[in-house]
Amino acid sequence: MDRQYLIVGNWKMNKTPSQSADLVKEIVDLRRGIASHVAIAICPPFTSLDRCAALLSGTDIAIGAQNLYFGKEGAFTGEISASMLKDLDLKYVILGHSERRTIFHENNELIHQKIKAAQASQLTPILCVGETLNEREAGQTLATIGEQILSALNSVDSNLVIAYEPIWAIGTGKTATPEMAQEVHRFIRELLLKQFGENGQRIHILYGGSMKPDNAASLLKQPDITGGLIGGASLVAESFVNIAAAAPNG
Ligand code: PEP
Repeated sequence: MDRQYLIVGNWKMNKTPSQSADLVKEIVDLRRGIASHVAIAICPPFTSLDRCAALLSGTDIAIGAQNLYFGKEGAFTGEISASMLKDLDLKYVILGHSERRTIFHENNELIHQKIKAAQASQLTPILCVGETLNEREAGQTLATIGEQILSALNSVDSNLVIAYEPIWAIGTGKTATPEMAQEVHRFIRELLLKQFGENGQRIHILYGGSMKPDNAASLLKQPDITGGLIGGASLVAESFVNIAAAAPNG
């Protein structure tokens, strides 16, 4: 069987609902040329989810959100719950993105609560982990990633995706070399196998950080990189789909 890949677009705080609808239509058109062993998902802003989900219904492109709050309902002004997202037929939710950790001060404990809430509503969390440049230069990359993963995964199930995103590579044009990324992905795979046994083998581990059509193939051919979380390049249908097209066959 062909190796399975997952390519996810993180649109961040970009695109109005009508701009989102235009982009989705382009992605749906271009997706026809991409092999079926490459699954595709997009994560638009909250305000575009309903419209995009309607446009994607009946296609094989999945949709996810970029955040949630773990409370079930109630007095949490400005927040969105897991069951509200599930009701829109979403499959994924990105959690623990470095922009949320840094700008909005989310810590490992909060992210853990969010993962549990997502899984309780049958959403698949995409847990983002990654080290700062200082941590890499101090030789602390694996310790940082290990702590982020183990704290997040305490008593959760294997319905999840991990995205390794070195913070110094996000939106900077700097990419980890395929070998650097593979080393961390291997480490993550081992943690997953320890935690979930054989089920840990089926969990996607995406690479994120300035992934583009011209560097995607060399990253995606690494044995433990099974997809990508794409920021900037996911805002243009052609470059997003060309990243998916770069996934090796077999
Ligand atoms: C991201 O923020 O998830 C990301 C990978 O961004 P970019 O591709 O723009 O580096």
